[in-house]
Amino acid sequence: MPKRDSTQSAKWFRKANRFLPGGVNSPVRAFRAVQGIPPFIARGQGCRLFDEDGNDYIDFVGSWGPLILGHAHPEVVKAIGEAAAMGTSFGAPTRAEVDLAEAVCGAFPSVAKVRMVNSGTEATLSAVRLARAFTGREMIVKAEGCYHGHVDSLLVQAGSGLLTLAIPGSPGIPEATVRQTLNVPYNDLPALGKCLTEYRGKIACLILEPVAANMGVVAPNPGYLEGVRELTRRDGIVLIFDEVITGFRVAFGGAQEHYGIESDLTTLGKILGGGLPVGAYGGGAEIMGRVAPEGDVYQAGTLSGNPLAMRAGRATLEILQENSPYERLEKLSARLEQGLDRAAAAAGVPVRINRVGSLLSIFFTDRDVGDYQTAATSDAGSFRTYFRAMLDRGIYLAPSPFEAMFVSTAHSEAEIDRTVEVAGEAFAGVARGKS
Ligand code: PLP
Repeated sequence: MPKRDSTQSAKWFRKANRFLPGGVNSPVRAFRAVQGIPPFIARGQGCRLFDEDGNDYIDFVGSWGPLILGHAHPEVVKAIGEAAAMGTSFGAPTRAEVDLAEAVCGAFPSVAKVRMVNSGTEATLSAVRLARAFTGREMIVKAEGCYHGHVDSLLVQAGSGLLTLAIPGSPGIPEATVRQTLNVPYNDLPALGKCLTEYRGKIACLILEPVAANMGVVAPNPGYLEGVRELTRRDGIVLIFDEVITGFRVAFGGAQEHYGIESDLTTLGKILGGGLPVGAYGGGAEIMGRVAPEGDVYQAGTLSGNPLAMRAGRATLEILQENSPYERLEKLSARLEQGLDRAAAAAGVPVRINRVGSLLSIFFTDRDVGDYQTAATSDAGSFRTYFRAMLDRGIYLAPSPFEAMFVSTAHSEAEIDRTVEVAGEAFAGVARGKS
């Protein structure tokens, strides 16, 4: 197998390292976990990516989730172009932001009002502030292995044990902030119940990815989300579903539609912006009534509701609503899951594949993965070998063992089958111990 030419990417990566920390604007892009040079991307079209060396790839990252329609979808590009020609930002009300807000409220029955922001991180930090103001309490609970952006209070990881006070995931986070965050294991209702009882009256919110997709994909066990809903309601705790990944992905109305459970606040991002920077948080009229200027909880943004982003998001949601591609995505993704499963078995490599709709991940372990502890048993070396073999053969995956594969409407059976074929070679390499 000839290696990819990476002359140009290597040149750009050297230069990038002179001007950007680690050569990137978001850490995982630097390929540290897989030890290689990241391809510098020149353009994308449909489900394909093209790098600066002229290599092309079948893309399963989709910009980490937003591109459910694939790259440069003509309707989305047209919407952005039309918006840009009318002016890129006004810092004043526009029809475009009302249109997108109406679409969000239509998709999520639990959302009566929504505030647009510029990223998923902004959405979660604003939702947590609102929950604290609404309840008059300060502590927050999150689930181990769930990621909610780089918010100080959410960037904490649990130590081991059933219930631990969190330790910071980064220097620079004040101890006082860390002390306000509690971590519980995902999919563990007894642990959550114990935590909520121990800190009764002090907890403002529980924030959760209703389908965890940042420790690899981990679906909620049957009854877990129902239990979470019941326990939080019992104690007057604001339940925040972080649907930054799952929103418009596992169903048009996100995990809430897929599982039939409503949260008090919902955070959104990724698909909502159609590939442009957008986040949002929303909920019932009473709690959202506390957001300034209707209420007293301050939150603002120079570029919030940016017309390009609003139009890109609206175009994306319109296509999703009109074409309802979720059944097709389910079929394509099931085909991928089954193919990968067969290929791994044929190579004699033990894996567990978790999938919810078009979100999928492979764990190199023989244990069923239902929480962070079991996800962490995935073998990093095997993933690295697999990842590099896939990349060298033109399959672009997230360069970390704990990320999802994102299937888009731009993928066809041909690309899925090609991916499975290549995976067969990659798994064989894992079995031999080399790519
Ligand atoms: N919440 C979830 C579930 C995410 O996956 C992410 C990012 O991957 C975020 C929040 C943060 O979003 P952003 O990277 O847009 O700040």
